[in-house]
Amino acid sequence: MIQLYIPLNFLGVIYREIKQSLTDIEKMFRLLDREREVADAPDAAELAVRGGSVVFEDVRFAYDPVRPILHGVSFEIPAGKKVAVVGPSGSGKSTLARLLYRFYDIDAGAIRIDGQDIRTVTQSSLRKAIGIVPQDTVLFNDTVAYNIAYGRPGASQAEVEAAARAAHIHAFIAATPLGYDTMVGERGLKLSGGEKQRVAIARTLLKNPPLLIFDEATSALDSTNERAIQAELESVGREKTVLVIAHRLSTVVDAHEILVLEQGRIIERGRHDELLARNGRYAEMWRLQQSGE
Ligand code: ATP
Repeated sequence: MIQLYIPLNFLGVIYREIKQSLTDIEKMFRLLDREREVADAPDAAELAVRGGSVVFEDVRFAYDPVRPILHGVSFEIPAGKKVAVVGPSGSGKSTLARLLYRFYDIDAGAIRIDGQDIRTVTQSSLRKAIGIVPQDTVLFNDTVAYNIAYGRPGASQAEVEAAARAAHIHAFIAATPLGYDTMVGERGLKLSGGEKQRVAIARTLLKNPPLLIFDEATSALDSTNERAIQAELESVGREKTVLVIAHRLSTVVDAHEILVLEQGRIIERGRHDELLARNGRYAEMWRLQQSGE
C-alpha cells in the first residue's frame, strides 16, 4: 500500500505544480490580451526622454463605446514634478495611468512625453521609461530576488540587495531562513500588502525610470507602514516626473498640481492650499479625511 501511496502522493504534488503553472500562464495570457489592443506604428521610433514632461491634451477614452470614461482631460506634469489625481472611486483615476502606459489607445486627443505622441513610439521604449508601483502588486511564484530583479533583468545580487535596502525590505528578507532565495507568491511566503508594495518599490528603484506612476493602495495600510512607504516613495520620486493616483490626501499636499476628477472630468485643480481656500470639493474631501483620521 505504502508503495502505491508514495507515487500517488508524488503525482498529487506534480499535479498541483502543473495546475499552478497553468494558472501562471493564464495570467500571462490575460496580460498579453490586454496588450494586444495596441500595436506599434510601422514607423514607430524610440521614445527619446529628455526631461520627461507629460502632457494629456483633451484626452477622451471609453473601454466600451457606449460608456465614455474620460471626457476631455487636459493637464501637464512638467519634467521632474509631481501631479496627483484624486476623486471618488470609478472616476477614472487609474485609467489615466493605464493610458499613459499605453495599455489602451485613446479615442481622441493626445498624450505626449517630451513632445512625442506616445502612439508614435515603440511600446518597449515607452514602457522602459515608466515605472509603475501598482495598487496591488502581483508577485511571481519565484524567489524574492527574481521578483525584485524583474525591474531590470540581469541585475546583480548586490544591486538587488541595494534596491531592497532602499525600499526598506532588506531586513525582512534577510530574516527569512532562505533570504533572497525565499519563494514568494501563491506557493511561497505570503507577504502583507505593505511588504508587497515595498518589493514593487525595490523593483522600480532597480529599473530607475525617468517617469513614475504610483497607484496608491485603496486598502488602508496601518499608519506607520503608510508613512514609511510614503517616505520611501518620496525618495524614489525625487527628480522624476511623477503621476500619483491618490486615495489618501496626505500624499498630495506637496504636489505641483492636484487634479480632482469626477466622472471623467477635472472639476477642480490647483495646489493644496489653493484648493482648500477655494472651499469646494477638495476642501470637503480633506475635511472628511481629517475627521476620519
Ligand atoms: P478607484 O479609486 O476605485 O481605483 P478609479 O477612479 O481609479 O477608481 P478606474 O479604475 O479608472 O477608476 O475606472 C473608471 C471606470 O472605468 C469605472 O467605472 C470602471 O468600472 C471602468 N473600467 C475600468 N476598467 C475597465 C475595463 N477593463 N473594462 C471596462 N470598464 C472598465
